[in-house]
Amino acid sequence: MENFTSPLQKYKRQPKLVIDLPSKGAWYNDKIVDKFEELEVYSMTASDEIVVKTPDALITGNAVVNVIQNCIPAIKNAWMLNSHDFDYILAAIRIASYGDNMSVSHTCSKCGNEDKFGLPLQALLDHLSETDPVYTVRIDDFTIRLRPLTYKEMIENQLYTMKVRRELSQMNATVTDPEARDKTLNDIYSRINKQTEKIICDGIVDVTTPDGEEENNPLFIKDFILNSEGKYFDAVQETYTSNNQLLSIPKTDVSCSECENTDSIAPSLDYSSFFLKQ
Ligand SMILES: [Zn+2]
Repeated sequence: MENFTSPLQKYKRQPKLVIDLPSKGAWYNDKIVDKFEELEVYSMTASDEIVVKTPDALITGNAVVNVIQNCIPAIKNAWMLNSHDFDYILAAIRIASYGDNMSVSHTCSKCGNEDKFGLPLQALLDHLSETDPVYTVRIDDFTIRLRPLTYKEMIENQLYTMKVRRELSQMNATVTDPEARDKTLNDIYSRINKQTEKIICDGIVDVTTPDGEEENNPLFIKDFILNSEGKYFDAVQETYTSNNQLLSIPKTDVSCSECENTDSIAPSLDYSSFFLKQ
């Protein structure tokens, strides 16, 4: 648009909050983010809201990437945001758009009564900005350095899992011969294992040997991790698992309006519900 003199211009959106990235910019360059401190967060526009209401748009990640880049101009390539920052950024956009309160439906574990609770998202921001995931694994005098997965990798992994689940249910519906079932099942499980190996090995930056020599060639690293004793692979996998637990959303105690039973719940970061005003 050439016309910068429109009287509407000054009524356009203003930043609603300013955030620092929990990762402090580690793992990024200036093609991914302009800066990692004091990023301005704008609310979603009407057209963002229309896009995220299309179910398919969320599955491929494209809609989420566009919304992030649109709401936080300092983020240039949201595909490369990592798992340390990702939920923090989504929560900040949600707060900028709809306020701090996220309404969550919960069925009481004791009496089955359904209540709606408003959970504060600021608590999630506070938690994630204080969390310090571990990216260095030391085992038998080896040092294995890891990096967090990017959004692109997380989405690829999700799409793969969905594809395999679909194949499993198709097989259950169509293949009846026991031998053929076993063969197909083995094939599917071996592909799931391969995918797990890929995700684990892709996240390794380098390995330093007890002699202090460093290897950063992904092919040699993968060969070492997969073809040595299992303890190296296990140590890396355990580190990822415990990081995921650290980065997961803290639970809040809520009390049932019927029987006063207390349950612990967390807001869902299932993106389709996260982006919708409730
Ligand atoms: Zn109850």
